Amino acid sequence: MKEFKTAGDYAQVPIKQLYQQFETSAAGLSSHEVQVRLATYGHNTIQRGQRQSQFKLFIKNFTSLMAILLWISGIIALFAGMLELAIAIWAVNLINGVFSFWQEHAAQKATNSLRQMLPAYTQVLRDGQQQQIDAADLVPGDIFTIQAGNSISADAYLISATGLQVDESALTGESVPESKSVIYHPGDGKFAETNIVYAGTTAASGNAQAIALNTGMNTEFGQIAQLTQNQRPNVSPLQKELNHLTQQISLLAISIGVLFFILAIFFVHYPIAKSFIFALGMIVAFIPEGLLPTVTLSLAQGVQRMAKKHALVKDLSSVETLGETTVICSDKTGTLTQNQMTINHIWLPSGDYVVSGQGYVNNGQIMLGQQPYIFGQKHDLDLLLQISVLNNNTTVKAPATVGEQAKILGTPTEAALIILAEKAQLDLSTLQTKLPRQQEFPFDSERKRMTTIQLVNGQPVAYIKGALDGLLAISTTILDNGQVRNLTEQDRRHILAANDHYAAAGLRSLAMAYRELNPQANWTQAAVEQGLTFVGLTIMADPPRLEIYAAVAKCHAANIRIIMVTGDSALTAKSIACKIGITSDQARVVTGTELANMSDADLKAALSSELIFARVAPEQKYRVVTMLQSMGEVVASTGDGVNDAPALKKADIGVAMGMTGTDVAKDAADMILTDDNFASIVAAIEEGRTVYSNIQKFLLYILNSNLPEAAPSVIFLFSRGLIPLPLTVMQILTVDLGTDMLPALGLGAERSEPGIMEQPPRKHNAHLLNRRILWTAFGWYGLIAAVLSTIGYFLVNYANDWPQINLAASGGVYQQATTMTLAVIIFCQIAAALNCRTQYSSLFKIGLFSNRKIIGGIVFEILLLLALMYLPTLQLIFNTAPLHGAEWLYLLAIPLPLLLIEETRKYWLRRPVN
Ligand code: ATP
Repeated sequence: MKEFKTAGDYAQVPIKQLYQQFETSAAGLSSHEVQVRLATYGHNTIQRGQRQSQFKLFIKNFTSLMAILLWISGIIALFAGMLELAIAIWAVNLINGVFSFWQEHAAQKATNSLRQMLPAYTQVLRDGQQQQIDAADLVPGDIFTIQAGNSISADAYLISATGLQVDESALTGESVPESKSVIYHPGDGKFAETNIVYAGTTAASGNAQAIALNTGMNTEFGQIAQLTQNQRPNVSPLQKELNHLTQQISLLAISIGVLFFILAIFFVHYPIAKSFIFALGMIVAFIPEGLLPTVTLSLAQGVQRMAKKHALVKDLSSVETLGETTVICSDKTGTLTQNQMTINHIWLPSGDYVVSGQGYVNNGQIMLGQQPYIFGQKHDLDLLLQISVLNNNTTVKAPATVGEQAKILGTPTEAALIILAEKAQLDLSTLQTKLPRQQEFPFDSERKRMTTIQLVNGQPVAYIKGALDGLLAISTTILDNGQVRNLTEQDRRHILAANDHYAAAGLRSLAMAYRELNPQANWTQAAVEQGLTFVGLTIMADPPRLEIYAAVAKCHAANIRIIMVTGDSALTAKSIACKIGITSDQARVVTGTELANMSDADLKAALSSELIFARVAPEQKYRVVTMLQSMGEVVASTGDGVNDAPALKKADIGVAMGMTGTDVAKDAADMILTDDNFASIVAAIEEGRTVYSNIQKFLLYILNSNLPEAAPSVIFLFSRGLIPLPLTVMQILTVDLGTDMLPALGLGAERSEPGIMEQPPRKHNAHLLNRRILWTAFGWYGLIAAVLSTIGYFLVNYANDWPQINLAASGGVYQQATTMTLAVIIFCQIAAALNCRTQYSSLFKIGLFSNRKIIGGIVFEILLLLALMYLPTLQLIFNTAPLHGAEWLYLLAIPLPLLLIEETRKYWLRRPVN
């Protein structure tokens, strides 16, 4: 076996010698040998270096502004002789830090697991058979295939190559693709050898076969990846906004704290240490502790829920952007339709044939009159079938058992052509040997055709298949009933009329042509693709996906516009768009050619009304996306090919197809659909909206308790200390870092509120903390809780001979009164946790107990309150005392009226506005 060398070292080794050195052959490795090599060389994966250390992440949670403040406060409390308070403050700080760390860790785990859900595949030749394997299982000596759009899985030596261009920017930074071929040339600089391709680079066009030289960490890419590690997590705009918000609120809280500190010293004449602790209460009451980790966790949970619905997002920020999406530019084939091509007609100048049988099961027939057609009976139909299978890079493996789907290695369009020929009992392998392929000009979505040159009886003949409009433009003759004659204007009209007839029914056509070539000439693509002889059309059906109707209706209800941007023909596109309800039949169809000639102003005007883009090249999507963005839209755009990458990058949400998409498209995208289904985009948008509204819900919930927590300090100050502080600092901490935590988390996991997809998209620059939330938190829920808790405090005092009581001598009355304030706030928060679950809908409609996390949180709150009241140690630390029967009655009477008041308010909000 070989000793370690870099791929470049093999560039000048002749292929035969390389086979020997790597103990492999043109038929590939045996599966046994693969196992041996996997054990020797390991999996073909790149291990990133050290992650950000968990320890650092852990410590970070104890060094935030809030945490430092609490550490210092503990020290001051200690010096002021309040040992219990000091310990309690530190304990709370510790619990909060651990909790935040756990949340961040859970969020990180959630996003990391997504990467494993997207394996990269490679086609290899093993045991003489073409197979699709996980790229991680590729070993040195494997013979593998490279197609345009693939990311190259190993450093490899080219055995054959057709028009191969490789984008090596990941290695060299050079974004202009390099031409590669089997002929060695050293090229300029590193990685420039023409016959070597490198892992981590991508094939921009063409195709090739190569022998893997180095895999995994032995590749050049692996070596570089080892050196450069950037694991910096991306911070989403929402997290940034919250960071900023927390900082601002903290500053405000500290300013108020300083003010209260000064007032306590000079106005109430409190000692300094006591004043500090008092002011600290205000600060703690206002700072939204735990907000950021909770947001991060709920974004990550959103990401996980999206993954379950077949949408993998790469970045937390995509979750928010999805919720803002106003326009989706969508491909047609495979996204809106099933990509289950079945040819059901053949059109030849001499006649029209019906093809029976659905899908990829070879049980149909081509009908010639009343007779099933067998290959070899008729020259023009035979030729069409011959072109169909020879100008074809797809293999279809018959299902092993009845009822199983056939396996397709390649594209559904080409698979349909193979199945068509099988229906006429054409023997593919005999034909491939008899008419071997000499050259190929691969398909690209610009030309919309593919050409191969086959040797037919020793003579080179070009076989071409592709979109009819382009093909007809370069055809000069026609094969009509076995005779070649000039293609007249009348023929053209005749062919186009036939094609339009099918297209108007939503069917897709593919045209076939050929040309006999001069054996001597050295053929270029441009020279071959002209002067063709037109043969005929295959007509295929690609039915809309079943889920599409509901998904489109949902988008329309949610004010999200769908614009179809397809490479298919205008009539087919329009027919499908109308059928699935994307547009009315009044929609304008703009073709790629028209788009190219349109000024920006015209395009803008066109985009303002219903339209469909057909026969466009993927590059043109970029312009459409850019224009829509300049019109203030938030655009999601789908794509699968190499040329879709710029539009995917440009779009606010680039959506790549997981099944049929190229690696290049997946790299450029923000979101990958594992089922290629348009309906999954809509599900992801709904999830995005839900996550955002849940974050607003728990923000509202945590802000609710601010006012009732602050009110006691204000009462204390303005009575110049005559009214003892109704809520102690420790008790404020209990609410903010104890009882509020779990229900808040539960709100982050709330399911979509009914009707969330019946509202227009959120404005792009809308703030998370808006006036509605501030009003509801401070002017409504907060105010009610502040009033109720103050009443509770005075009721206890009043029952104990207020105002005669003396704080020091009252023997537990003060403790009981502050406990009452605390308990009322907690009971108000219980109602608030339930009330915050919906913005408009009735709580009873979504089910009072449907969010178990919230119910669990509420139970926890009550247990914690009971523990504080009844456990002697906690009583001592938290300055609490047990409450009595009447007080409990007051407490228990709080939640229900609060729920009913809110239900009435929501009912009023829901009422139809005329
Ligand atoms: P969409 O962009 O909505 O997914 P599409 O798949 O039809 O639509 P392209 O893949 O760009 O778009 O194909 C454009 C046209 O090229 C097709 O309508 C068809 O006529 C032709 N075509 C597609 N695949 C092949 C192929 N393998 N060989 C030759 N021509 C093809």
